[in-house]
Amino acid sequence: MARVMADCRRFPSEMNCSLTIIGEEEEVVRAAAEHAASVHGHENTPEMREQIKGMLEPEEAYKPGEREKEPLPGQAT
Ligand SMILES: [Zn+2]
Repeated sequence: MARVMADCRRFPSEMNCSLTIIGEEEEVVRAAAEHAASVHGHENTPEMREQIKGMLEPEEAYKPGEREKEPLPGQAT
């Protein structure tokens, strides 16, 4: 099964989070949801996990270093 990536560097955050999570989709969604709740103060809800699923990228998209920020989907910029 292909691995996927959830990349905090992709989105602006108050703590300028640099975390990148790579693994199988189920692992990444769980880890990213726990991370979003514990670090970013989001609620770990099914809706939030759905939103994370929509932001996953293939692991081949990983590049080291800084990343250009994109607005968070579904939120006003
Ligand atoms: Zn983060």
